[in-house]
Amino acid sequence: MNNTIDGKKILIVEDEPKLAQLLKEYLLQSGFVPFGLSNGLDVIPWVKDNEPDLILLDLMLPGKDGIEICRDLRRFSNVPIIITTARVEEIDRLLGLELGADDYVCKPYSPREVIARVKAIFRRIETSQAGVNLEEEFSIEKERMEIRYLGILLDLTAVEFRLLSTLLKKPGRLFSRDQLLDQLYEDNRIVTTRTVDSHIKNLRKKLSVISNELDPIVSVYGVGYKLEL
Ligand code: CA
Repeated sequence: MNNTIDGKKILIVEDEPKLAQLLKEYLLQSGFVPFGLSNGLDVIPWVKDNEPDLILLDLMLPGKDGIEICRDLRRFSNVPIIITTARVEEIDRLLGLELGADDYVCKPYSPREVIARVKAIFRRIETSQAGVNLEEEFSIEKERMEIRYLGILLDLTAVEFRLLSTLLKKPGRLFSRDQLLDQLYEDNRIVTTRTVDSHIKNLRKKLSVISNELDPIVSVYGVGYKLEL
């Protein structure tokens, strides 16, 4: 059943014609209806007229860059945005800018990967509309620093509690290691971003004790972590 994606309008903003064409073909094959723009100045008016269901947004564009476009879009629209960028290190900087994008994909990417990310966003929207979401499966007792999964109390340290509650508050949002690190310790102690990795590892272990299939934490290579259904 593909009714969540059939006919969804996807706007590809990309100034490399070959790449745009390739994405277009893959999106078509997957049941989406793709559109393409190559000049940054055309995006806002087009979106206002056509109301796409999702936008794949390149950063380096003629006319107007992707960062500016993303900011302008968020002034009037909640349309899901996936930013594509040529450098993985840039994603960290972009996260810091709080642009409100839903996901980031690093070039060179495989079209398959992009399609998977697009589908993941629509799945997320559908499940949140259906009222099944992670926030409901998990319940957070802030004062007691307790998190339960379907009523079962998780055996968490204080740091793990902070880490998981940060991720749970914004399911689907990508957090850089630095952003997560900011949440972990209250005493500004010096820790490295690797600390985050080891806490995530422990957290995953504890979740898998509850259920083998409970593995909602996704690591995004070179960038950080997010929570997915
Ligand atoms: Ca470009």
